[in-house]
Amino acid sequence: MDEHIETRAIHAGQEPDEETGALMTPIHANSTYVQDGPGDHRGYEYSRTGNPTRTDLEANLAALENGDFGRCFSSGMGAINTVLNLLDSGDHVVAGNDVYGGTHRIFTQVYEKYGLDFDFVDTTDHDAVRDAMREETALVWVETPTNPLMNVNDIGALADIAHEHDALCTVDNTFATPYLQRPLDHGADIVAHSLTKYLGGHSDVIGGALITDDADLDEEIGFYQNSVGATPGPFGCFLVLRGTKTLPVRMDRHCDNARDLAEWLDTHDAVSKVYYPGLESHPQHDLAAEQMDDFGGMLSFEFDGTLEQASTVVKETEVFTLAESLGGVESLIEQPAAMTHAAIPKEERLAAGLTDGLIRVSVGIEHVDDLKADLQQAFDAAL
Ligand code: PLP
Repeated sequence: MDEHIETRAIHAGQEPDEETGALMTPIHANSTYVQDGPGDHRGYEYSRTGNPTRTDLEANLAALENGDFGRCFSSGMGAINTVLNLLDSGDHVVAGNDVYGGTHRIFTQVYEKYGLDFDFVDTTDHDAVRDAMREETALVWVETPTNPLMNVNDIGALADIAHEHDALCTVDNTFATPYLQRPLDHGADIVAHSLTKYLGGHSDVIGGALITDDADLDEEIGFYQNSVGATPGPFGCFLVLRGTKTLPVRMDRHCDNARDLAEWLDTHDAVSKVYYPGLESHPQHDLAAEQMDDFGGMLSFEFDGTLEQASTVVKETEVFTLAESLGGVESLIEQPAAMTHAAIPKEERLAAGLTDGLIRVSVGIEHVDDLKADLQQAFDAAL
């Protein structure tokens, strides 16, 4: 039976425990497993290689992404690292010029020294992507929507360009989640996740995952997962499994609140621009409407003021918490120019559209009127 994602979120990979009947996946806090004879084990030998709590989470995530195989990691970066492990020295990677900072860092500061070469381009410009492709290009790395300007990339078109050059296409689906967007259905080869965000959903766990529907690729990913050892513990896996059960209901509320807030900010005198793919004014609104089932819970806006005034806004909020990260039930607020992107020289930052007044919010699932009232009192304090 082809079940809906709401049903899969709760049941996929989740059979009651055979021995005890426990409805929920037990936390298998365990490093090693008894063997009935040398090499004669019951499916598990050692928990870095495999753990039953992790197996259930991996099956659950694969089902959510319409993939056949899932692999979990101790962080989103652990998952991203493993995609790079698939490449060989001399390979070339084309990535978006606004990828997550940690992704940019591991690409350039860790893997360039091992002989990988990276080009960062505007992935909404397909000619620019085509121009960047080389004979050695082995990977196209896509995020959509992107952070913090919420650009939307065409997964199908970028996967086609990658495949024309025999390169893999990996999509970091952290912002959208499989509830809103399933990249494998659009032709991507691998989906990457920071489980730390919406999939965990409660800001209480760090984790990562890779999902594919290619058995050979999965085997290779499994080899590096076990060899490198950035694997999650069973308690972390349990927390993410607990999170995925409510992903659909949480995402519905995240999306409703973000849309409502985006529309309110869009007409607000203190705000000069709103970046949210759900607004018709967003440059890739039509693509987002086609590619996504809803527009997500992340948005950014330009507060019409100085860097200092925008800093006052993010300091004065009481319901929104001033913090990096995203995707939890609680609303978070941050100022890229003073926080996540402060290291970028000002001229470069401004050229990329990251103005002093830019504020990014991860819209939580509180009552939206409280979120508006909180922003209003913070604006009043800043002006
Ligand atoms: N991908 C995206 C889009 C992210 O925002 C992050 C973290 O913020 C990561 C990957 C890295 O995930 P983690 O922090 O779980 O290592």
